[in-house]
Amino acid sequence: METVAPFGEVLEEIRELGGDSYRLCFQCGKCDVVCPWNHVRQFSIRKIIREASFGLTEIESEDVWRCTTCGACLEQCPRGVNQIDLGVSLRKLATNYDVVHASAKPAKSARIRLNDDGNPLNRNRTERADWAEGLAVKPFTEETEILFFVCCYLSYDPRMKRVAKATVEILNKAGVDYGILGTQESCCGESIRKTGAEDTFKKLARGNIKTFIDNGVKKIVVSSPHCYEAFKKEYAEFMVHFEVVHITQYLLELIRDGRLTITGSFEKVVTWHDPCYLGRHNDIFDEPREILGRIPGLTLKEMASNRNNSLCCGGGGGRVWMETIKGERFSDLRVEQARTTGAEVLVTACPYCISMFEDSRLTLDAEDGLEVRDITEVIEDVI
Ligand code: SF4
Ligand code: SF4
Repeated sequence: METVAPFGEVLEEIRELGGDSYRLCFQCGKCDVVCPWNHVRQFSIRKIIREASFGLTEIESEDVWRCTTCGACLEQCPRGVNQIDLGVSLRKLATNYDVVHASAKPAKSARIRLNDDGNPLNRNRTERADWAEGLAVKPFTEETEILFFVCCYLSYDPRMKRVAKATVEILNKAGVDYGILGTQESCCGESIRKTGAEDTFKKLARGNIKTFIDNGVKKIVVSSPHCYEAFKKEYAEFMVHFEVVHITQYLLELIRDGRLTITGSFEKVVTWHDPCYLGRHNDIFDEPREILGRIPGLTLKEMASNRNNSLCCGGGGGRVWMETIKGERFSDLRVEQARTTGAEVLVTACPYCISMFEDSRLTLDAEDGLEVRDITEVIEDVI
């Protein structure tokens, strides 16, 4: 049975939920041309927008959950339609009616875990700082200059804990005055918001903002571009401002200021993957390339899709929690693009991208031919 709310009601709800720019669409189809889904299967955000404008939204459809919020279509639209906001408004509608397609059920579970323990990985809040045991990492206090906001994946995920450790090794070596919030830190909420769970996002955002203010936080260094997006743009909706720096920006600053010295070499061919929320959404393209360019021995080869045209890993918009069937995974295409350059190492700076690429490496049997590293794991080797 189709779950379609009455026409006028749906339009009103879409407007109220932030998707009203559908009115501007004149159906040119430029968005569909760049949408990464069309590399793997048929999917039309243009058609969804058209249907929404007639109040014909089938909120039980799997298509409501496909958009990875990669942002490729935003740049193409001649009418300024915000396809992401429209898509998220439909997810909010589906969430409000509790009509969630089976493929998106893991996102619903993530929401429940985020509400309970502040992370989507079904782990206890009390374990959040366990990764730092035995390392020289201080708790953040009011006198500390910089908060290193670790992120759920770097705190709990076994692969990503290596990135947290590489990051603190670099910060320690550069003599940075930083600290972590440990069990007081909660998920930034960016991705769960894109699944339509607005209340959960607000709860997480308010909790983190209160913690930042109570602890006297002024400057935050983040590893995840999703935390960057949340703190820089989305928390501003709560009329607060914190200085937010992505680790790629901060590393370059440390190197330029002479606080971090590259002493070794990295004799490998490397390719750089622009994460959607670092590049397209936040225009951070040059900093990682300049860092890699300063490492002796390293040869940087660009993939066919790079910078603004970077191919999404498939993990944004809450898709990192959803199952994507074999043959439809963007990360598989990206790993193949990386291999085509002749690269030995695929370097990036996003926990979702790394998780997606590591999975693809396994399923494509590409483990021997290609390493996946966070940029901090490259720097760790040469300082
Ligand atoms: S690019 Fe913009 S105007 Fe063209 S179909 Fe897509 S949303 Fe509509
Ligand atoms: S944001 Fe990306 S995945 Fe979503 S509709 Fe636009 S191009 Fe497709």
